Amino acid sequence: MPQLVILDRDGVINRDSDDYVKSLDEFLPYPQAIEAIARLTQAGWTVAVATNQSGIARGYYDVDTLEAMHTEMQTLVNVAGGKIDHIAYCPHGPDDDCSCRKPLPGLLERIRDALGLETLEGSWMVGDSLRDLQAGDAMGCQSALVRTGKGARTELKGTGLGHARIFDDLAAFTDWLLSCEKTASCHY
Ligand SMILES: [Mg+2]
Ligand SMILES: [Zn+2]
Repeated sequence: MPQLVILDRDGVINRDSDDYVKSLDEFLPYPQAIEAIARLTQAGWTVAVATNQSGIARGYYDVDTLEAMHTEMQTLVNVAGGKIDHIAYCPHGPDDDCSCRKPLPGLLERIRDALGLETLEGSWMVGDSLRDLQAGDAMGCQSALVRTGKGARTELKGTGLGHARIFDDLAAFTDWLLSCEKTASCHY
């Protein structure tokens, strides 16, 4: 079983915005999330990020700006003692007919290949939107919804959540995962 956690970005690692996160100034990571990623790394988990960034297709920001946000994210995680092993993003819009925009699983396939894994079955997908969980489901991941970002709204809607576990935030998910791991009680 790969010890892999795949995270959505906006609303999970950093504050989401209905107006898109368009600049480095608007990229506001949650301290608890940075800390949680570091704890996962230190406990031996591999962490990857799968993020829809249709703001690029919409012309709200460019790839260089996105890369600057991701460099900042990596730096904060590294300073906290953690590591993000791979970041996969979809720059396309909803009408571009790509295969990577969640709920499609293309980003997760890219992560699987980048990490040299046979399968993502049993890995965790953590998101604040239904489409994050759907992308994970398509790859056989276990899913967790966090209430940060759009997560509280997603929980309230309630549709399609299926077997997803629900947590207040990434820190709470991490607390749970690392404690149940010791007793093997989180294994399916
Ligand atoms: Mg999100
Ligand atoms: Zn795409």
